[in-house]
Order: sequence, then C-alpha cells, then structure tokens
Amino acid sequence: MVSNEQSTLNLKEQICYQTQGEGIGSVYERLQLADLFLKLAGEFSFKSILELQGLEITKGLDNIFWQNLGAEISLCDAPGVLEIVKKCWFLPDPPEYVTSSHLAEKERTFDLVWNFAQIQQKPELLEDMKKLSHKYLLIFVPNYFNWGTPFHEIYHLIFRKPCQHAERGFKRLRHRAGLRKFLQSQKLKIIKEDYIDAPLLPDIGFSIRELKQTIGLKVKELGSEKISGLHVMEKALKMINFEKNKMMLFSHHLYFFCEVNLENH
Ligand SMILES: [Zn+2]
Repeated sequence: MVSNEQSTLNLKEQICYQTQGEGIGSVYERLQLADLFLKLAGEFSFKSILELQGLEITKGLDNIFWQNLGAEISLCDAPGVLEIVKKCWFLPDPPEYVTSSHLAEKERTFDLVWNFAQIQQKPELLEDMKKLSHKYLLIFVPNYFNWGTPFHEIYHLIFRKPCQHAERGFKRLRHRAGLRKFLQSQKLKIIKEDYIDAPLLPDIGFSIRELKQTIGLKVKELGSEKISGLHVMEKALKMINFEKNKMMLFSHHLYFFCEVNLENH
C-alpha cells in the first residue's frame, strides 16, 4: 500500500503537471493550499466537503488532497462551469457535481463548505455556505495589502479594461480586520485565520500572457510545451515563502476557518 506521504507527493506532482499552463504563481498557490488542507484534515474531521462556486478559477482540483484522505467531494457551480470542470478532473473517482438548482436538497449536509476568492465579490454567498454546512466553513479572499495591488489597479487604469480577475470586490472584505468583522456579524465562530501563499512574486491579478495579449504581442499556445510535474513542483518550491512578519505585504490570499453556530440559524 502506498503511504499517505507518498500518495500526497504523487498528487502534488499530478496537480503540478495538469495546471502548469496557469503559470508558476498559480501552481505555487495550489501547493500552499494542499499543505493547509492536509493540516486542517489532521486537526478536524471532514467526511463530506463541498466547494461552492468559484470553480472557473480553481476547477475544483484542490479537493483531490481531501479525497485522497477519504472525504466525499461535491462541486457546485453553474452548469456551464461544471462542464468545463468535469473535463479537468484527472483522477479516476469523480466528485459529485451539483448545480445551484439542487442545493436546497443539500442543506446541512456537509462537514465543510469552502470557497475561493468569491466572498469579497458576493458576500451574500456566505448565506448559502452557512445553510449547506452543519459544521465548518473555509473562506479565502485575495489580500488587498499585497504589494502587487497598485500594479493591478494601474493596469486597469491604463488599459481601461473592466476587471474580471479574482482580485476585485469590496476592499473592506479583502483584509483580515474587515473580513473578521463581517464573519463575526454573521454569527460565525472563527477557529483559525491567517495569511497564505506568500511568494516574492506580486499578486498583480493579470498574467504576463494576458498583458502581452492586451498590448497586441504574440503569445505561445497554452500547453504546447509541457514539462514533468516533478520539474514544475521543484520550480515552484524554489520560490521564497515569506514568514509571518512580512506576510501582510507578500501574501496573495488570506483565509478564515470558521464553525457554523447552528443555534443562531
Ligand atoms: Zn483586474
């Protein structure tokens, strides 16, 4: 039998291989999420997990680390997004795909409901998350205080493009104090909160590929030159991860792990 450590490493290699076209910053972010997910799974028990919306960004792939530990995974988004996500799932056991119209049947079903980078755009999504979980919520938002934020804002000012990136939405929900206040006002008990994903690379929102396209330069076709997952992982892990005292400036995201207080529903 393959040890847990070995199978986790295999999964990391696979995710690096499959998602390398998203850029090294994104691969790095996925590796950081994997480590957080494994840490949380070691401290808390999650048998059923739902990732609610935001799947056009994550493709639901980060859940493979929880699935590997035996959790049942469900992914919920618009039907069109789920069609794309289905094509990206590369493991033999598929998750359960749920469309929003079937969510009512799933109330209080999941041990954990999580979302990546949507709450700052749609705070009302939290209501659905609370209804669906009977235990825990995990919420990530892009960190407004990252040193790349001014570059992102200047990019949109210069090119006058409406922002479609995850790094948008209410500023008050993109820093720890503001998001903490919001979650507490929603009667959630905060168990853990922290910065995550803190490489030297700034979070500028747009990719170099997108910048080239915007200014009319030629770009290579995606996926034309794939390298091995191990090689991608080695490259990503060479990146510096900043320590606590510098994380506010370097983190691309912050997260809150909360308990749903059922008495207040
Ligand atoms: Zn943008």
